[in-house]
Amino acid sequence: VKCPSCMTAFHDNSQPALLGSDHAGEWGIQHRNCPECGEFIVHIMRGFREPSSDNFYLLEGLDHMLVKPQASSRPPPLEVPEPPRSDFIDAALVLHISPKASAALSRRCLQSVLRDPNAGNVRQQALANEIDEVIARGNMRSQLAGDLDAVRTIGNFAAHPTKSTVTGDIVPVEPGEAEWNLDVLDALFDVYYVAPAKEKARKDALNKKRQEAGKQPLP
Ligand SMILES: [Zn+2]
Repeated sequence: VKCPSCMTAFHDNSQPALLGSDHAGEWGIQHRNCPECGEFIVHIMRGFREPSSDNFYLLEGLDHMLVKPQASSRPPPLEVPEPPRSDFIDAALVLHISPKASAALSRRCLQSVLRDPNAGNVRQQALANEIDEVIARGNMRSQLAGDLDAVRTIGNFAAHPTKSTVTGDIVPVEPGEAEWNLDVLDALFDVYYVAPAKEKARKDALNKKRQEAGKQPLP
């Protein structure tokens, strides 16, 4: 089990409390306490109960709904500022309920990351052009540039032009689009927010040492 709050994996093979059955199968509710952060984790499950042992099994593809915490299973890094931060949290939260809504939020999130003067710092009017501008600078590693470029092809921007002009509009999603956007955002967060913060922390630590040794701090 992976804790949705702190992402720590822990071992737990406790059985769910059975609620009963309907035409869809056997229902159970499972609650666990994360040993790391103490958060209560509750799932509603649908599976089947083996009559001989009373063991409850989840079948591949059957429901396993997270009820608590009602938070994203992929929290953004702490370094990510608003407004992209809350758009990303909401996009991840609704991913499995409405990929359409999730993709609208993640497109808008992507646009605000690209426009952020401390991140992408682009000056274009539409998301497709903003992606172009960032890639054309040539300072992004090629794998990430390719993944960012694919946001347009996987989302089929050609068929849905408002995805580029009114990024937050709810329009049909293409297969895999919503999840892809989140994956690309994760990678961009790392490049634009997490890595620079680590770099700054390293430099601050070095300068503290230099100052203690009576030397000039590095700019
Ligand atoms: Zn936890």
